[in-house]
Amino acid sequence: MSDPTASPVSFAQRRSSVTIIRASLFKFVGLLTGVFLLTGYLLVYLANDLDRTEEAESAFYTEKAVRALEKSVSTTVKDYAFWGDAYRHLHLAVDTDWAYVSQNLGPTLYADFGFQGVFVVNDADQTVYSVINGELQSVDASAWLKQSLATVLSKARAGAKAETPTTTFVNIGGHPALVGAAAITPGTDPAVEADDRTPSVLLFIDVLEGPRLDAIGRDFGVDRLRVAAPDELGGRSVFALGDDGAAGSLHWNPPEPGERLLGMGLPMVGIAALLVYLMAWAILRRTTASAQALDASYESLQTSQSALAISEARFRDVVEASSDWVWEIDRQGRFTYLSERFEGVTRLSRQAWLGASMDDLLSTELGSVSQWLSIPNRRPDISVQCRFVDTQGQQRITRLSARAMGELGFRGTATDVTEEVESRRRIEFLSQHDALTGLPNRTRLREFLDGKLKTLPTVERPLVMLSLDLDRFKPVNDLLGHAAGDAVLNKISSRLASCVRHGDLVARIGGDEFVLILTDVSGQDEVEALCQRLIDSIERPIRIGEQEAFVSASIGIAMAPTDANEATELLRYADIALYEAKSGGRNTWRFYAGDMNSKIVERRRLESDLRFAIKHGELRLHFQPRFRIADAKMVGAEALVRWQHPERGLIAPDTFIPIAEETGLILALSNWVMESAFRYAASWPEPLFVSVNLSPTEFKRGNLVERVQRALHDSGIEPSRVELEITESVMLDDAPGALDVMRTLKRLGVRIAMDDFGTGYSSLSYLRTFPFDGLKIDRSFLSRLGATEDDRSIIEAIVGLGHALSLTVTAEGIETQEHLAMLKSVLCDEGQGYFLSRPLDTDGFSALVRVTESAESPDNA
Ligand code: C2E
Ligand code: CA
Ligand code: CA
Repeated sequence: MSDPTASPVSFAQRRSSVTIIRASLFKFVGLLTGVFLLTGYLLVYLANDLDRTEEAESAFYTEKAVRALEKSVSTTVKDYAFWGDAYRHLHLAVDTDWAYVSQNLGPTLYADFGFQGVFVVNDADQTVYSVINGELQSVDASAWLKQSLATVLSKARAGAKAETPTTTFVNIGGHPALVGAAAITPGTDPAVEADDRTPSVLLFIDVLEGPRLDAIGRDFGVDRLRVAAPDELGGRSVFALGDDGAAGSLHWNPPEPGERLLGMGLPMVGIAALLVYLMAWAILRRTTASAQALDASYESLQTSQSALAISEARFRDVVEASSDWVWEIDRQGRFTYLSERFEGVTRLSRQAWLGASMDDLLSTELGSVSQWLSIPNRRPDISVQCRFVDTQGQQRITRLSARAMGELGFRGTATDVTEEVESRRRIEFLSQHDALTGLPNRTRLREFLDGKLKTLPTVERPLVMLSLDLDRFKPVNDLLGHAAGDAVLNKISSRLASCVRHGDLVARIGGDEFVLILTDVSGQDEVEALCQRLIDSIERPIRIGEQEAFVSASIGIAMAPTDANEATELLRYADIALYEAKSGGRNTWRFYAGDMNSKIVERRRLESDLRFAIKHGELRLHFQPRFRIADAKMVGAEALVRWQHPERGLIAPDTFIPIAEETGLILALSNWVMESAFRYAASWPEPLFVSVNLSPTEFKRGNLVERVQRALHDSGIEPSRVELEITESVMLDDAPGALDVMRTLKRLGVRIAMDDFGTGYSSLSYLRTFPFDGLKIDRSFLSRLGATEDDRSIIEAIVGLGHALSLTVTAEGIETQEHLAMLKSVLCDEGQGYFLSRPLDTDGFSALVRVTESAESPDNA
């Protein structure tokens, strides 16, 4: 047999050689690109360098030209000034005839030397002789130069003794000019007698104009030396005249050999690069094309040679592939061939089944295999799922495909898909069931519900939906741990399932939320009986190890078609009814009623009203005095909030505090209560304490301490006069967190009291571990109080416990004289209640404080 694996390998190798050719060509081109770039860069660098050198050189010669000009002016003026005749005819007396007419200092100075101005300034600094552009004129030198000459004159005179002239560049109306000046002296003429006046000064002025500058520059090999135009200043090739260019600047064109080099060199490099790239491209095309042609011819050669061998091998591979076996049957449906794999996969004997009927082995969901094979126009590419039983008696599932062989019968393959079907079923189950309890989940619930609603329930045979929520489950979870919580949920799930009939559905749709769907119920009575049964079975204690847990449940009921015909609506209505059941005291059930919806709408309105109320000052504070029981002296007061609603009148906190807690408005509300109560208490004439109620939800938001601190600070009240009342649910929710917050609060200096003591779970342990200063016995203890010794002894025990823990014990809800007497007899510390005083508005409370104060002041004693 030829080796079918050999060709793909060598083919791959040859393909990669094409790739290698390409890759090396690309590398080569990349390298060349680098070389070209480097050449370009060097060219530019060289050119720049050349230009810079030339520039420096031409600047040097420009300077030389300027210095030469200065030198020549200086020499000329010196020749004329240090001369006895000039002294005689221009200093001792001014003789114009001698100077101008006889051409001693006349027009030739302009014509031959190019001096536009020639002046003589006398000892009094007056211009006594002036020749402008070769014409004798009477012009003041400094007026013509448009600047003062004082510095030039004094320098020239200073050089009189040493016979040194001075030169300076000036600016005359925008044109730079060179001024040469020298004091007129007798020179070496012994015939002239010098007077003792200040020497006169001879001035030659050379205005630097175009052609003249050009000529000077050319003498020194500087191209186009000229006065710099304003836009040429600040660039290269500029020479400043006078101080920092005060007299103007010169500019010239330096030679630029670099520029020329670039102009020729760069295009040549570019053309060379282009040529190389074109060649590389041509080579690449050729190589690729020939390599591909080679591939193609090789491939076709190989294909034809080994096609037969490959198909044989393929057949063998397919036949012996892991989980498939191949079969053939004759026209009577009897096996005529079974591949070796048959035994491995089915664990049945090939020998035994050859000749036996295929229908005896396999069956489809819908009937026998031969029925399926005889379906007219059956598509050969569609397989069918079949079952058979293996030697161990296990049912297995196999996927069968079949092709007709004309007169010979059928041939096909069988694939074992037992595991696949099994795991698909498992995934389907998991996606529709709750992992913890195994109950159907929300997805399954929706499917089930949609299916049942399609069968159109009637009023006589309604579909009933129960929405069930556990009460008191959270504390179980928190106190006994999550494992215990899980155990409780499992127990409850099986109790619920055992309460309903086969065909009903119990689904778990949330932590402690369940939905039950009942279809075989005749009427309301039956539903109520079922609800009672459900609640009873849930309330039975649940043992977890040593402990016992108690939970109960509330149920909301909605029915189709009476309440709704649509799954989402039914769920919503059942939830609304559940909500009602919970606010109706829990542990009970409610049928959905139309007005429940409007109650919820009403609640929404209250919510948005409350938002407004907090902002716009509709909240009020009442104060209920707290008295020391021993002597009935008022010691403080509890602040209780009310809402003055513009339409509904005064609303009690029990109505709106829960709303505030749910919506998060509680923080704003509580801030207002603290600020107002503290500020108000700070104004009381006596240092009574004030106590405010905190909501458990405030503990969970991080900033309680800061808020209390701010209210204390803003009101200026002494922190020791403030008491915060909190309920034990604060500790139930997050004990370590609560302990932290309480410790920090105590550091502020305030007192903390446990409110509503005795209504909750395990107040005792909390009293011991948390830093409380006081406890308030819930008013239900007094209201329950009969005349028996028993009730009295419970209260006595609480007081004793409080004292043992050094807590101030306060009794709430003192409504009668008897209550008061009893509390006094058990030594309860403090108390509040309608019998002593109802909560008072601020005016009422102020009046009470004033009365108390005057009653106690020594004048009235
Ligand atoms: P609480 O802290 O237990 O407050 C005492 C409640 O008992 C007050 O009701 C008070 O009017 C009432 N009460 C006082 N003496 C007697 C009596 O002799 N007999 C009876 N039957 N009742 C008496 P109120 O003002 O309606 O407050 C109800 C609850 O609202 C308070 O219960 C407290 O939990 C909450 N609350 C009030 N103000 C605030 C507040 O500013 N913030 C927070 N978070 N909760 C507040
Ligand atoms: Ca309270
Ligand atoms: Ca209370």
